Amino acid sequence: MANCKHLNVCKFYNKYKNALDANCRIYIAKYCHGCGELNCKRLEFRISNGYSAVDNYTPEGGVLILLDEEVLV
Ligand code: SF4
Repeated sequence: MANCKHLNVCKFYNKYKNALDANCRIYIAKYCHGCGELNCKRLEFRISNGYSAVDNYTPEGGVLILLDEEVLV
């Protein structure tokens, strides 16, 4: 498994990398720490629009809504 080369600058990754939410952990394992980077919707959004998606736009193209206590930053 290869890490995404955008880990250091990705707002989604840096906000949710320690989140407790099961779906969030799956996104990070599958995309950010897996080979899913190639299909990451955040990267597609960045290329199409020239700027980053909102922090909670997921690698699968949905919007993640978590309670504050579920996000450990
Ligand atoms: S969300 Fe996408 S761009 Fe961000 S670290 Fe994960 S795979 Fe890379």
